[in-house]
Amino acid sequence: MSFTAVYLNKDGDHFSAELKHLRDDVLESNPLSEGEVVVRVKHSGINYKDGLAITNSSPVVRVWPMVAGVDGAGMVESSADPRWKAGDRVVVTGWGLGETHWGCLAQRARLKADWLIELPNAFSTSDAMSLGTAGFTAMLCCLAVRDEGVKPASGDVLVTGASGGVGSVAVAILSAWGYRVVAATGKLHEADYLLSLGAAEVLDRAGLATPGKPLQKERWAAVVDSVGSHTLANACAQTRYGGVVTACGLAQGMDFPASVAPFILRGVKLVGIDSVMCPMERRKAAWDALASDFDARKLGAITTVIGLGDVFASAEHILAGRVRGRTVVDVHRVP
Ligand code: NDP
Repeated sequence: MSFTAVYLNKDGDHFSAELKHLRDDVLESNPLSEGEVVVRVKHSGINYKDGLAITNSSPVVRVWPMVAGVDGAGMVESSADPRWKAGDRVVVTGWGLGETHWGCLAQRARLKADWLIELPNAFSTSDAMSLGTAGFTAMLCCLAVRDEGVKPASGDVLVTGASGGVGSVAVAILSAWGYRVVAATGKLHEADYLLSLGAAEVLDRAGLATPGKPLQKERWAAVVDSVGSHTLANACAQTRYGGVVTACGLAQGMDFPASVAPFILRGVKLVGIDSVMCPMERRKAAWDALASDFDARKLGAITTVIGLGDVFASAEHILAGRVRGRTVVDVHRVP
């Protein structure tokens, strides 16, 4: 028996990315797929990090050969850990999947029992990956905004990279929670999409993307930023006294060309968000909040479904910033 996977390899300077048929028993013997639970993956997703890995654009993959895919959802096939049994529906994100451990752009994966979350009843495996790492991260950002005391009455919340995976889900969550959301995007032709997700206003991201003054007019009670660089610096400089900025991404750049002025003169809080090693208790809280507060009817607009063979083109598209919302991969749809 065999399964198909997105297989990345490096031989000297030569990088390759291909669909490969792997024997089932390779999961048993391979140190990069150690774990107590074998999962029949049904859906995975294309995240920005997958784009970087599949195109070899950034050193995401630390060990070769690697099966790509930082997240997945499916059914437990077998488990040597009593917490899981065959037939359980599970979702997994992060933990080094697709970086140091074989990931979920594959029909099967062997995973650590500690990494799995029971898929909330509200979601199918496809729904779970419509949210995926990006949606989970968006919820971590939104929870941080709320936990830091920002209320809907506090003022507008800026979401950058709004048409992307993190941004789209953040817009939907924050508006469902009653915040007035301003969506900054480079895709003004997607304004109707962002308004349909719940944005009250759509802003051209160009106004945030270039160097700005250390302190600017106070506009935002909170910010969810997945873009980094000048955008994050300007967002901090425009945040109101005592406001909160969550930083989770680097779509514009990893740099942060800012001053300390917003932090020391306006008490602005900058909260870093990491989804990869996020503790299990917080993960469960975030998935529970997605299940209860995210309007699953919005998933249709957010999602594009592709097959396993389409991931190579999709990886290029996400890095070029051309993807709207989330790309779900039906790993059993193979050309
Ligand atoms: P997407 O590619 O789906 O979205 C990113 C969005 O950023 C794009 O759609 C675009 O939105 C905007 N963007 C792209 N290029 C630029 C640019 N040069 N300048 C300004 N804006 C740009 O990615 P995700 O939403 O999945 O991820 C967003 C970021 O968050 C990535 O950097 C990713 O690595 C990071 N991330 C971090 C996680 C963590 O654990 N910290 C987890 C998940 C993601 P628009 O056209 O609307 O402006």
